[in-house]
Amino acid sequence: MASPQQAVPLPPAVPVGSGHDGHRQLSADDVARMQAEIEFQVEHAGHESAHQKMALILVGALIASQLIFFMWKRLHNRSFHAATLLGLWLVPAGMAMQAGNVRFVTIWVIYSILNAAVVYQAMQVPVKPWTPRLVYKWFAVVYNACHSVGMLGYAFCLLSFFHVPLILHISSIEDEAKLFEAGIVLAFYGLYFAVCARDLVVLLGDRMAVNVGYHSKEGFPAKHLRSNTCAICGDSTDLVEPDKRHKQNCGHTFHENCIRGYAIIGKKDACPYCKEKIDTSQFRTNPWDTSIGAYLALLDAARYLLVWNPIAFLLVHVLFQLFGLK
Ligand SMILES: [Zn+2]
Ligand SMILES: [Zn+2]
Ligand SMILES: [Zn+2]
Repeated sequence: MASPQQAVPLPPAVPVGSGHDGHRQLSADDVARMQAEIEFQVEHAGHESAHQKMALILVGALIASQLIFFMWKRLHNRSFHAATLLGLWLVPAGMAMQAGNVRFVTIWVIYSILNAAVVYQAMQVPVKPWTPRLVYKWFAVVYNACHSVGMLGYAFCLLSFFHVPLILHISSIEDEAKLFEAGIVLAFYGLYFAVCARDLVVLLGDRMAVNVGYHSKEGFPAKHLRSNTCAICGDSTDLVEPDKRHKQNCGHTFHENCIRGYAIIGKKDACPYCKEKIDTSQFRTNPWDTSIGAYLALLDAARYLLVWNPIAFLLVHVLFQLFGLK
């Protein structure tokens, strides 16, 4: 690289502390910021060709990683799904630990312990008849809480972005900036913990259905399904009132809560037993389902941003180090 110091004109001396003659008084912060800017320019002077190379590597690596993730997902969906969940769980926690973000790490540890208990319950063989309903209920509660927190964060961001508190004279501009920050944090928490829940429940739903015995990935299920048995929990549907049962187009009957949990919360679109398509429009009856449905679609889009983007950037960082670029 070219010698530093070239072609970096230092700014003229700044009259620090001369507030009386029309100059804005510079705070210690301003001085530090300018100092950092000058240091940055000195350090990177004459790096133009290196910066071009870096831009190429960045774009190339991002495109290549997109392709790799896409192929992996196509060819090995299960391992991709498991790796995504693992990354989703560990990557943000690792970043938070490095940044010393105690609040996030604390919530993350509590969340992990609660989910570990749910996973333990779901993995018990034989599956208890109430376990699937309990598991789907838990994740419905998690979604609901995350949805509320996320929406609150979103509202905070919008309000401060449009200076509503300032216009209404209920806060200063500094408080407004804090509101915006709080909004971003809440929106992130709402998104992150819900995406984790979403991926976990998909895996658990598969496992529970296989363990109950009326579902298999390929070929025939282990047990023959009788007409009055719910294929999701394995319990009789005769024991509940008729309006708590749900008969699908394929002719199989489920507990209302089982099939709703399995399809909406567990993100499955086929009857566990005969694999005929589930008609979810039949139970999109309350507004909660529709709003949560849109939210769940957003979660599916956010997954890539949360997991694979940080990993792609980490790779880019490693490449930069290898090529000695900065
Ligand atoms: Zn540079
Ligand atoms: Zn059931
Ligand atoms: Zn069926």
